Amino acid sequence: MNTTTIIDYLKTSDPSDLFAKAKQIKAETVGNKVYLRGLIEYSNRCAKDCYYCGIRVSNTKVCRYDVDEQSVLDAAEYAWRKGFGSIVLQSGERRSREFMQKIEGLLNQIMTLTNHEIGITLSLGEQDEDTYKRWQDAGAKRYLLRIETSNRMLYEKLHPKNHNYDARLKCLETLQNLNYQVGTGVMIGLPFQTLEHLAEDLQFFQTMDVDMVGMGPYIEHVDTPLFSTVGALRATPLQQVENRLDLTLKMIALLRIQMPTINIAATTALQTLDLFGREKAIEIGANIIMPNLTPLKYRENYFLYDGKTVVKDTFDDTIADLEVRLAQIGAEIGYNLHGDSLHYKSKP
Ligand code: SF4
Repeated sequence: MNTTTIIDYLKTSDPSDLFAKAKQIKAETVGNKVYLRGLIEYSNRCAKDCYYCGIRVSNTKVCRYDVDEQSVLDAAEYAWRKGFGSIVLQSGERRSREFMQKIEGLLNQIMTLTNHEIGITLSLGEQDEDTYKRWQDAGAKRYLLRIETSNRMLYEKLHPKNHNYDARLKCLETLQNLNYQVGTGVMIGLPFQTLEHLAEDLQFFQTMDVDMVGMGPYIEHVDTPLFSTVGALRATPLQQVENRLDLTLKMIALLRIQMPTINIAATTALQTLDLFGREKAIEIGANIIMPNLTPLKYRENYFLYDGKTVVKDTFDDTIADLEVRLAQIGAEIGYNLHGDSLHYKSKP
């Protein structure tokens, strides 16, 4: 699909044809199964200072935590026993030998505890090749590293000068060379973002030949430098909340058409803007959901953006509710399945 066509779809007030096509392609490729990735937000400590993020290092209002080891293991075991195919271990970015070894130790314990049956995705930021390799050897099979925007100039506006776009790209390449299943993603409706940028993002995913994508609407956090900018730009159509939701769904549909066999996540941010946002995404292209398994006492401190949902739900409530919601749209949970990216599996 060329840029003009993508932008026309992003602009349209009636995306029914787009959604119908994406739905059909989804049914013919990845099918109606939704795979679970139990999300464990291991730590909100981060060395970086992204202007949009609530847990950036400069936000002194955040109560910092590392989930204690036993709680991580309990959450992983819960996921395994409940038939989740996989978990995601996510954290702010830290690059130290101590952190590397801590994660490596947790991975080894989780693999032993789950009889080597659980799939593990990591989302722990930019690391060096040796660290990625050690974590892979300890059991991680997939890695998520969101670029947040593929446009270099926009990226530089959203990050301090010491955050390097090229370094992030290099990490994605390193992960691919190590044969991880690699995921990335972007925010939609960012200040300064244009429809051309979003079209570039879709082309970026294809050029990078990624296996998984997680895209969510940008949601502001009051304690971030970008927040005041959001206020100033709210008058522009791209910034209105309903348009961010609408654009995210269109982006997911376009991506499913463009890359039929990749895994696409229905993100929590979608649910934050619309109670049924995740289900809407599943209907028109997404096939992954990441129920939050972070122990309740830590969850309220992992606020990347304002208004994040499901903070108080228990694990069982979340899954029971999810089953009902998915059944209503003809989808079902792929229990005890890893749900690996078909795109990845088809690579030579
Ligand atoms: S977006 Fe990620 S890397 Fe940036 S400050 Fe937040 S947690 Fe850290």
